[in-house]
Amino acid sequence: MRRSLFEQDHEDFRGLVHSFLEKEFAPNAAAWTAAGLIPKNAYRRAGEQGLLGTAVPVEHGGGGVDDIRFPYVLMEEAAKLGAPLGGIPVHLFVTTPYYLSLCTPEQAARWLPGIASGALMTSIAMSEPGTGSDLAGIQTTAVRDGDHYILNGAKTFITGGINADLVIVVARTSADPENRRHGLTLLVVEDAMPGFTRGRKLEKLGFRATDTAELFFDEVRVPVANRLGEEGRAFEYLTSNLGVERLQIAVAAVTQARAAIDTTIEYVRNREVFGGKLSRFQNTKFVLAECETEFEAAQVLLDRGIEELLAGRLDAADAAKIKLFCTEVQGRVVDRCVQLHGGYGYMLEYDITRLYADARVTRIYGGSSEIMKLIIAKSLAL
Ligand SMILES: Cc1cc2nc3c(=O)[nH]c(=O)nc-3n(C[C@H](O)[C@H](O)[C@H](O)COP(=O)(O)OP(=O)(O)OC[C@H]3O[C@@H](n4cnc5c(N)ncnc54)[C@H](O)[C@@H]3O)c2cc1C
Repeated sequence: MRRSLFEQDHEDFRGLVHSFLEKEFAPNAAAWTAAGLIPKNAYRRAGEQGLLGTAVPVEHGGGGVDDIRFPYVLMEEAAKLGAPLGGIPVHLFVTTPYYLSLCTPEQAARWLPGIASGALMTSIAMSEPGTGSDLAGIQTTAVRDGDHYILNGAKTFITGGINADLVIVVARTSADPENRRHGLTLLVVEDAMPGFTRGRKLEKLGFRATDTAELFFDEVRVPVANRLGEEGRAFEYLTSNLGVERLQIAVAAVTQARAAIDTTIEYVRNREVFGGKLSRFQNTKFVLAECETEFEAAQVLLDRGIEELLAGRLDAADAAKIKLFCTEVQGRVVDRCVQLHGGYGYMLEYDITRLYADARVTRIYGGSSEIMKLIIAKSLAL
């Protein structure tokens, strides 16, 4: 169906992004996958092309257009090309909005130019070894000491954690037995701060070119000047930003479902079985027809969600519905597409195998499918 989400500016951006990723990212996919991360200079190159700072105000070196459709286009083109993006989706969809909405003028001048240029790659550290879904259970502490906070704790599964120059850390600054959501604060930890160390680069099933890491904070002195927003209000900030994070995951799900269908159509057109093309079987046609229909439904829902976000109307339950639906569709689509590849669908050299491995996490991170259902159910006032 014809899409109405994008305008001419986005299509112009699409052309630029496609040729950049085709030339500088896609050819390195195998090497970056083997290394388990994207080198920092690749982020700088993306920054030089204006891909990282579209939302950053012009006076801080960005494009000055806070429009999530630009990063959406970037992810669509990357999925078409099979180009790994590493920490870029988190940088664009998840962390940049915190900096844009919460930075003081001094912080904006300090950080935004680097965020736009790729000199400062960013991560967000919410999850801990003992708590992921239950964010109010965060144990990392920050105790005020004059002009600093003393930060202690450990985080895990942090996307971009090895390469990050700035990490937004969610820490507990006070405890309120009446309300566990009170007393969490956002602190920006910088690369070289004493006491901040990075643990293992975690070995993952999928997204193997993205660095995912454990982070440790041992008596890290974080200046109060590095606090984002007000003390104790992090849960509120997280709640208002998690909707965009969930849309980002839905974008990944839908764009990768598309890539799975496309590569499978090509495969079944060429694969010979029982003296003819695999595409001639009614089962092949029916399976791909189902995949295409589910993909289309997911894309329409996602595009509408993006429109709602742009209009300032997307609420937490809407974002949860979109993430739940799009990621569950992706899971079904990639599984059927693997089946149509037969044994080749199990070989790492095939795109569908990578897409299958990458797909599994979208139903887990950024709030699992079960947590999405809790949020949706809450809106039903059962
Ligand atoms: C590749 C990857 C990248 C990630 N990147 C980041 C990042 O950049 N920053 C960050 O902070 N975190 C990140 N995460 C963490 C991610 O968001 C968490 O893994 C996720 O929120 C789930 O938390 P958990 O792993 O602790 O699982 P748990 O919370 O232990 O959940 C285990 C199971 O219990 C279910 N469950 C939990 N609570 C309920 C409930 N109330 N009702 C019903 N079922 C429930 C869950 O749905 C799940 O099936 C990443 C994770 C991965 C795998």
